[in-house]
Formats: sequence, C-alpha cells, structure tokens
Amino acid sequence: MKLLEERIRKDGRVKEGNVLKVDSFLNHQMDMELFEEMAKQWKADFADCPINKILTIEASGIAIAAIVGRVFNAPVLFAKKSRSVNIDGSVYCVEVESFTHKNTSKVIVSKKFIGPEDYVLIVDDFMANGCACAGLIQICETAGATVEGVGIAIEKGFQPGGDALRAKGYRVDSLAIVDSMDPETGEIVFRS
Ligand code: 5GP
Repeated sequence: MKLLEERIRKDGRVKEGNVLKVDSFLNHQMDMELFEEMAKQWKADFADCPINKILTIEASGIAIAAIVGRVFNAPVLFAKKSRSVNIDGSVYCVEVESFTHKNTSKVIVSKKFIGPEDYVLIVDDFMANGCACAGLIQICETAGATVEGVGIAIEKGFQPGGDALRAKGYRVDSLAIVDSMDPETGEIVFRS
C-alpha cells in the first residue's frame, strides 16, 4: 500500500535490534485517517471472505482493529495479556513471546466471545517472528473458529513470521513489507 510505505519512509525510524519505530502515526500517536485507508484496503482484499469477527492483541493492535471493525461492520475482540497464574476454564489461553519486550506473557480470550460460528480476520500492527499471530490463530482454532486471514500493517519480511504462516496456508495480507532496513543510514527497502 503506497500510502503506508510513503508514511514509513517519511516518519519511520530504524533502530538497532531490527526495530522500526513508527510511534508518530501507528502505535503511540495514531493517524486515524491512515487507519481508515488501511481498513478499506483489507476490506477490498478480503471481499471474498465471510468475515464476521476481528481479532487482535493488546495493546497496539486495538486501535487499528477498531477501525477495521467499523469498516467490516463486525465486532472487535482483543486478546488480553493476563498476569493471573490460575486461568479458569472460561477462557482460551496461550503463551506469546513478545518481540519488543523480550518476555513471554499469557494472553486470554473469553470462550463466550469466540466459537465455530466465527470467521475471523486477525489484525495487528507488526509481524516479526509471528509469535503474536500464531497465538491468536491457536486460540481461533481451539475455539473451532475459521481463520479467514491475517491483516498486518507492517511486516518485516526479513524476519520469519509472515512467510512461515503463508507456508502453512494462511492468507497473510501485509500492507507494507520491509525487506531490509539499515539503522546506520536509515534506508528502508520495501518488497515490491
Ligand atoms: P511477533 O510476535 O511477530 O514476533 O511480533 C509482533 C509484535 O511485536 C507486534 O504486536 C508489535 O507490537 C511488536 N513489534 C515487532 N516488531 C516491531 C517493530 O519493529 N517495531 C514496533 N514498534 N513493534 C514491533
């Protein structure tokens, strides 16, 4: 998506450790007009799918997913990070490794809100190693829901998450795929 690529070039900052900082428009201060254009792009790309639920993970996926939910006219569900050790039987729970915080957290979704009647679009801001999305897919599949696809704003194509999910047959629609980025020069190369 040209609009997103141009914005990343203009306002993105390449940091050490394979981190792209986009906090001026994507995951701290947020450009809602851009989010709406992203949501419309996914709506067009997944026009052939019976999507009736949007699933994301807290925190930075939520705002994007909220706009996506409006455009798809579907409820938005977010997996919550949970500190509690004793998870009772009313929730689906998976362990997710955080790329940015380098730790593992339990994320939960209430069994009340996902089931076999759901055709899910998973949405997130970034794809790196794919742990967050793999966890969300696991929750959907345990619940008997159908994963129609994965919508990612920025995929770092030099990290394995996106291609690993594609190889498993999931439809991963990343609006910008960064194939390389250099913290020294700030140069960012997108997949064409
Ligand atoms: P994964 O689970 O695919 O390894 O990482 C995805 C999650 O890590 C996203 O939800 C996102 O919040 C965070 N993340 C991964 N890479 C980056 C990055 O380069 N920049 C920022 N700001 N967040 C990232």
